[in-house]
Amino acid sequence: MRDKGKATGNEHPEVNNASLLIERIRGNDFRIKQGRVEIFLAREFGFCYGVERAVTYAYETRAKFPDRRIFLTDEIIHNPRVNKELRELGIQFLSGAAACGVSTADLTAKDIVVMPAFGLPVEALKKYQERGCVIVDTTCGSVMSVWRRVESYARDGFTSVIHGKYDHEETRATCSRAGKYIVIKDTEQAKLVCEQIRGPGNRDSFPGKFGDVCSAGFDPEQDLGKIGFANQTTMLMSESVEISGMLRAALATRYGEAEAEDRFRHFDTICSATQDRQDAIRELGEKGMDLILVIGGYKSSNTGHLAGIASGYARSFHIEDADCLLSAEKISHRGIDTHVITETVDWLPAGPVRIGITAGASTPNRVVEEVIERLVKITG
Ligand code: SF4
Repeated sequence: MRDKGKATGNEHPEVNNASLLIERIRGNDFRIKQGRVEIFLAREFGFCYGVERAVTYAYETRAKFPDRRIFLTDEIIHNPRVNKELRELGIQFLSGAAACGVSTADLTAKDIVVMPAFGLPVEALKKYQERGCVIVDTTCGSVMSVWRRVESYARDGFTSVIHGKYDHEETRATCSRAGKYIVIKDTEQAKLVCEQIRGPGNRDSFPGKFGDVCSAGFDPEQDLGKIGFANQTTMLMSESVEISGMLRAALATRYGEAEAEDRFRHFDTICSATQDRQDAIRELGEKGMDLILVIGGYKSSNTGHLAGIASGYARSFHIEDADCLLSAEKISHRGIDTHVITETVDWLPAGPVRIGITAGASTPNRVVEEVIERLVKITG
């Protein structure tokens, strides 16, 4: 077992993300059979390049500055295990559930602030810069490419329509760089926006339906004439494509086909890691599983989407880690549609069973390994 007191950072197990068991299963065509259970791993799962880099930077920062105060603005990625291990290394959180109580005003030039993989809103970054802190920027390059896109829309007088979750850190960071924007989370909200574009819609009720997900002073009549479409990097690709098509069609109805060409810009900003994991879970589902376990933090957007895709193929459970497998009879999981953490009995079929496994982009291989070991244990 690792001596937590001696951990310095860069030798930490999460950094190299190694798992002998996972390597063995990969080498065996992504499957392993143990007793009555046959486990199939998705061909792409777990840590993505952006998460791996962010976590590595955090540990390297600890190793390089053993005596300095190091802060994370909030969770570095949406995985409870990784965040807990960073706290054990003495890295403190400035906000969120694990906030240490130190405020931005308490920070000094000697302090180090590590930005998360999802990036930071411009105003927040400015505050840390004003305190003179050393900033370690772990923002993923794929997130920055969304920022460049919305900045270019703003420069050219286009309103960014962002397919994303407004309360997600990445989308808030993107909005802060977008000038005029509106965030839509799904096709239902996209329909309302399209009604307005085809308009004139009900201008008074429009902002109320979207809460505070528009830029200040957003005027649906004025601000939806020229649209630049972008997405949070971890959204469901098929839904993004559908929403983009809906917006383009609404502009064509209002202004005519030729003019719509000049009034609509689109750039697919879903990252390749998200796409690869979504493709891989479909491939796994098509092989015919009895059930699928999707492993990842309950706040992880990309894990939630993987669970949604998996449930289209087989009975699926979104679990956070091995502790969720309470027994062969009972499982603790987050409802895929309800988003409520619940317990389900009789989740594991009797007799021979084919179980598919995937994991979100912020899930270390060690967590996947522990789930497999627990599965084998509870099935005898
Ligand atoms: S999910 Fe994509 S955008 Fe997010 S950190 Fe990973 S690679 Fe970067």
